[in-house]
Amino acid sequence: MARKITRKEKTSNGKQPLPSLPSLPSLIDGKPVSGALRPPATITASPAVLRSQNPVALTEVQAPSPQPAAVPLDPPRPGNTSILKRHDMWEQALRQLDEVAKRIKLDPNTHTMLRHPKRTLEVAVPVRMDDGHVEVFSGYRVQHNQYRGPCKGGIRYHHEVSMEEVKALAMLMTWKCALMNIPYGGAKGGVVVDPSRLSNGELERLTRRFTSEIMIIIGPDKDIPAPDMGTNQQTMAWMMDTYAMTIGHAVPQIVTGKPVSVGGSLGRIEATGRGVSFITAAVAKECGLDMKGLRVAIQGAGNVGSNAAKALHELGAKVVAISDVKSGVYNENGIDPFKLFSLMGPKDFVEDHCPGQKVTNEELLALDCDVLIPSALGGVITERNAHKIKAKIIVEGANGPTTPDADDILNKKGIAVVPDILANAGGVTVSYFEWVQGIQYYFWELEEINTRLHKIMKSAFTNLWALSRRERVSMRTAAMMISVTRVAEAAKSLGLFP
Ligand code: NAD
Repeated sequence: MARKITRKEKTSNGKQPLPSLPSLPSLIDGKPVSGALRPPATITASPAVLRSQNPVALTEVQAPSPQPAAVPLDPPRPGNTSILKRHDMWEQALRQLDEVAKRIKLDPNTHTMLRHPKRTLEVAVPVRMDDGHVEVFSGYRVQHNQYRGPCKGGIRYHHEVSMEEVKALAMLMTWKCALMNIPYGGAKGGVVVDPSRLSNGELERLTRRFTSEIMIIIGPDKDIPAPDMGTNQQTMAWMMDTYAMTIGHAVPQIVTGKPVSVGGSLGRIEATGRGVSFITAAVAKECGLDMKGLRVAIQGAGNVGSNAAKALHELGAKVVAISDVKSGVYNENGIDPFKLFSLMGPKDFVEDHCPGQKVTNEELLALDCDVLIPSALGGVITERNAHKIKAKIIVEGANGPTTPDADDILNKKGIAVVPDILANAGGVTVSYFEWVQGIQYYFWELEEINTRLHKIMKSAFTNLWALSRRERVSMRTAAMMISVTRVAEAAKSLGLFP
């Protein structure tokens, strides 16, 4: 049955703003971008030339100084939009690249190449529905870059998926993999569908046909899909099986995020949420906040939100609010996420099982808490609501939850924003482990996976934090500086074919 979706409810909650934390980098690093943005080029599928997969030696940044200096504000960005529309995401991704290119004095040729996704593919996905009629869904796969290795990125099922959004998310994946220093380039895929409307059989047929349509560009050494919003382990198992049936033998490393029973990795399901908890603990420590009793509000109760809630609860934090597509619940005494998610069935909502005060998703963003973790859609923190946010720290569990306008406001307020390309990178990191384990047909213990994940995320955070202090820029800019520099180094090593 169709589930009614409530989007972007309005809020009326606007209490006193919190004073800025003196120890946080209070920054706005965006500068006016000269010249109009060029329209994105669409490169149709062409034979892949797989480049070197060797990760490039990377420049380390200095260790953080114990006493962060007070930092002056840069002027805000001009001409920002008020509400993030899907097609804006690509323009914003380009603008983000343009800004960091200026800052790091990126070679103009490399800059031009990075502004274009390497390959985009749009497919029609006809599916026989349960009642016998055929519906055709639009699907996309975009490979942004493969200088540092094969392309990697999730598959999203959502009714608002668009080519522009997928291109932006693919570019984000390039930066994320580079920031984590794992040997992948960025990709993303999606189908324009509300998965809650489809039966299990319809979802399986959709997934298998979509896989078949994009098979001309994916592969275990070319482009490796993973779950994202609206997809899960089961989706990956169907993709893996479709690939196996087509080529005649099983290739577990064609996808990551699949069930352990078919070569998935222990710890992959929880990895993104667990990574969010590691990063929350690290940034809270730098900001002088204790994990014990740290008040956390989480938007989204899916893979990322639920696992972040559990991992943070285990670390001693208090989850004071959590929401899903329908609504949220606030409980100042704390919500036990283990209890909540053990009671929730796949079609249930948070409000059905969670005692506390009902809040809208918009109200949740403005709750009085220490840490806000948006873990659902992109573009939810905008210039309309950023000034109402009372959290001291925002950890971006979702991809692209904060618009550039909102970023400026949050920076002015002294709110520390941990960017998505670090905060939610636990998923792609354990996906990388899964891929490595699949190639070797040798599987690791959970403890080893979590220890390695922690090490990689801690190191990425330490480098990023140090750079943001040294250069007096926000964590987002520091992250982009590290990522784009690494990708540019790879480009330089490879040269331009032919
Ligand atoms: P999911 O489909 O498992 O869960 C999404 C959650 O968001 C659900 O609780 C849903 O009810 C809620 N939601 C949907 N629309 C909403 C709306 N309009 N307002 C509020 N809540 C809404 O998805 P996920 O895998 O948890 O992904 C969530 C976000 O994290 C996405 O932005 C995704 O790109 C990003 N992400 C996911 C992973 C991963 O490993 N799954 C990794 C990195 C980043």
